[in-house]
This record gives sequence, C-alpha cells and structure tokens, in this order.
Amino acid sequence: MGRMLDFLSKDMAMDLGTANTLIYVRGKGVVLDEPSMVTLDSDTNKVLAVGKEAKNLSGRHGKNTISSRPLKDGVIHDFETATFMIRTFLSKVFTRLPLSRPKLVIAVPAGITSVEKRAVIEAAEMAGAGKLYLIEEPLAAAIGTGLPIDQPTGQMVVDIGGGTTEVAIISKFAVSCSESLRVAGDEANEAICKFIRTEHQMGISETMAEVIKIKIGSAVPLKRTLELKLRGKDLSTSMPKVVTITDADIREAIKEPTEAIVEAVRRVLEKSSPDLASDISEGGIWLAGGGALLKGLRLLLHQATGLDVKRSEDPLRAVIRGAGAVTEQFDFFREVFLN
Ligand code: ADP
Ligand code: MG
Repeated sequence: MGRMLDFLSKDMAMDLGTANTLIYVRGKGVVLDEPSMVTLDSDTNKVLAVGKEAKNLSGRHGKNTISSRPLKDGVIHDFETATFMIRTFLSKVFTRLPLSRPKLVIAVPAGITSVEKRAVIEAAEMAGAGKLYLIEEPLAAAIGTGLPIDQPTGQMVVDIGGGTTEVAIISKFAVSCSESLRVAGDEANEAICKFIRTEHQMGISETMAEVIKIKIGSAVPLKRTLELKLRGKDLSTSMPKVVTITDADIREAIKEPTEAIVEAVRRVLEKSSPDLASDISEGGIWLAGGGALLKGLRLLLHQATGLDVKRSEDPLRAVIRGAGAVTEQFDFFREVFLN
C-alpha cells in the first residue's frame, strides 16, 4: 500500500528560479525550497555544497571555494552545475527512484528561447526527471494567485524574481502579451554593493546587500526612517569600520532597477489591446515573486499607472503553487503547456 501511494504521488512541479528552486509533489505540496546555489572547490571543480548549505557558505568561505549560481537571468547559465543541483534536489525529495516515469512540470520564463528551453529539458532529463511539461512562469504565478485564467478576461501579473521580471497579461490559459526584463532583485543587490563601495569605501558581499535591501529597502519614501549599521572593512586602509545607512540611501541606490520595472509595466499596458486594457483597469495588477515584497513597490506602481496593485499571497511561492496546482488537475490545465 505504501508503495502504491508513493507511486501515485510522484507527479511534481519545479520552479527553477535564478534565486530559489522549489519543488512541489502532487498530493503533498511544496517539499523543497532552497537557494539555486552551489559551492564548488575552485581547484578541482568538485561540488562542496548545494542549496541552503551553499548559501550559508557564500560570502564567508575560504580561498579555495567559489559559489556559483547555475541560473542567470532566469535561464540555465552553467549546464553541468545546474544538472548537478537539480539532481541533488530531486534526490532530497525522493529517497528512492520512482517506479514509473513521473510527470514533471517546470516553470520557465515567458521570453525563453528554444535553445534555453532545450537546456532546461536536457538538464532535467540528465538529472533523472521523467516526462516533462513546461509552463510559463507568469502563467503559473497567475494560477498560484488564484486568478481565473480559463476566462477570456485579461489578468495582469508581474513576477519579480532574482534575475528577471516578467510582465504578462493572461487570458484563456495563455500569455497574450508579455515582456521579460532581465532586471530584478539581483540588479538591486548589485546597485547596493556599488553604492556602499562608492559612497562609503566599503566592500560588502551580495548576500549582505540582499539583507540590506530586505531590511531597509523601499520604492517610495516611508512613514518612518529606517537605519542600519554596517560593519565591514575600509577598502583603502583595510581597517574595520562602521557606517550607518538609511532607507533614503538604499532607495536612491536601487532607483534604476525599480524604475526599469515600472517602465516595463507601462510598456505592456501600452501595447495591450483596448479590451485587455479595460479588463486590467478593472482587475488591477498582481505582483508575484520575491521582488513583490519590496516595501512601497505597490504604491510606486499605483502612482505610475493609476491602477490597483495587489500582491499575491506569499509571493515567493506563487509560481510553485500554480505549477503545483497544474499537477493536481492535469486535465483542466492541459492547454497551459509550451510545446
Ligand atoms: P527567482 O524566481 O528568480 O528564483 P524569487 O521569486 O525567489 O526569484 O525572488 C528572489 C528575489 O526576491 C531575490 O532577489 C530577493 O532578494 C528578493 N526578495 C526576497 N524577499 C524580499 C523582500 N522582503 N524585499 C525585497 N526583495 C526581496
Ligand atoms: Mg521566479
């Protein structure tokens, strides 16, 4: 009986994100949620750690290790490392190999090229996955948000991840108008590193920059000033030092990537048909992905478009919830897959 149940529940979904990989097993829900990161030995290229373990090591490891993120801008950048990472994650989820070839739904960026698609398929196959189905991330995010994607009414979803921002209008099981922007959370982190380096002559890791962004980052001025004391090393004297930064500093530092996202939303609205535009003016804009958590982003987008801007519940999991929902109702969602 146990074997039977195990066999029945093997269908699964994977959100292979630039920042985070999540796996959903049919009938069980999200079973894995880890950074898309790998630590390698720089001499031998041997993998030392994957996922959470790799992220914990990043920024504080020794001379002979490098942390690598096998995805970049939403797509596979380092094929071998990506395959290794996927295999490691799958083996964490399944202690023994499934009895049959399970279905695997993988969420990919809407703007993906056929070469990039091929890489995802090959990496997943080499990592031991079964029959593959690809779904576009904004479509999965819309399903995960609970939007009625089977209806002809247009729904706008903005999925802001680590490497890409996908702005899409969805209707009748498909993305009808979209833009994939290679600017998202990573660019904000890089901008923060650069700001701390040029304004305060201090070097910080990207992991640290991300912590700063999450703690005091914002897209519009806040009601209350937020401050953070940073401890690091002066770049010229190499002596330890402390600097204080505020939400206003970080807002200025990440202004460019934030504005780029606003502009992409405006462009998609501009190129949408009058009917879809009218649907969106009624339904508003839904934000998903980790970037949706940036303080004040909803207000900034509301000011730029005049539309209602809402956030998907637990936006970091919107895509996996949607891809997971597809595994629960394959028949209903059979039209959502890319061929
Ligand atoms: P991906 O799909 O590319 O893996 P995710 O949807 O998992 O990306 O989102 C990861 C991004 O969200 C990272 O850039 C991370 O810094 C950012 N992020 C997570 N939490 C917050 C927060 N509270 N405020 C701003 N950005 C956040
Ligand atoms: Mg994503």
